Amino acid sequence: MNATRTGRATVRTGRATVAVAAAVVLSFTSAGFANGATGAVPRDHGEDEITVGIKYDQPGIGLKTPDGTYTGFDVDVATYIAKELGHDPSDIVWKEAKSADRETLLQRGDVDFIAASYSINDERAKKVDFAGPYLLAHQDVLIRADDDSIKQPSDLNNKKLCSVTGSTSAQNVKDKIAPDAQLQEYGGYSECLTGLENGVIDALTTDDSILAGYAAQSQFKDKFKLAGFKMSNENYGIGVQKGSELKAKINTALEKMVADGSWDAAVKKNFGPANYQNEPAPEIGVVVK
Ligand code: GLU
Repeated sequence: MNATRTGRATVRTGRATVAVAAAVVLSFTSAGFANGATGAVPRDHGEDEITVGIKYDQPGIGLKTPDGTYTGFDVDVATYIAKELGHDPSDIVWKEAKSADRETLLQRGDVDFIAASYSINDERAKKVDFAGPYLLAHQDVLIRADDDSIKQPSDLNNKKLCSVTGSTSAQNVKDKIAPDAQLQEYGGYSECLTGLENGVIDALTTDDSILAGYAAQSQFKDKFKLAGFKMSNENYGIGVQKGSELKAKINTALEKMVADGSWDAAVKKNFGPANYQNEPAPEIGVVVK
């Protein structure tokens, strides 16, 4: 542990202790819970604990797998940052950060930082601070493989278009891309995917980095395609509380991650399987409008 550890992590020790106490009670009622190998006993993260908000439903970016592990580019970036802040991977407590909840999670102090396909924009920057950017993505559209009616963004007008509440994608559609689209906003992207599969919606719009991950999933093989529209610049930032000293430390960590090749390795590992052609590493502090 080094001196850069967050102040909040120490404050949280009390809660971790309560969790351990609860686990001890459970261990008297069920022998299974007492066995650490089952994973049922919460670890005592203690004062080294750090809580990170990620997406749980975005393969290649932030995904909670059925066996309870976490994978994706954001997970790798967050793990690198946490390490630079003095926290081992086992000290990280992952928390789901849905698109509409991110500012609130930070403002309430429920998470130390957020790495969740979180685009930097002026509206959000009024409430939270951003380190980065650490990835430049673009808004695109996922459609059924046999759909040849959507050739340009304006073809989305009058179509049933799905996006997620609180995302820049939903806002962009309303403001400029296709104001006459029949926009359905759901809480998470998986609901949009189901709708696209069964024909309830015509297209799902969000960042190409996210859509590539969905299109590559085995259950959707040959069912969907990306339209290939670059409808916006989405500069992914690491969200922190307004005024937090973490911003500068995270920027230093991100610079190191690019310089030592870890950023490239994370890109290959997470975007390679979906064949996502990412942009080069952004310059820290430079948001591409
Ligand atoms: N990057 C966009 C955003 O921050 C869309 C992806 C998401 O909802 O996380 O809103």
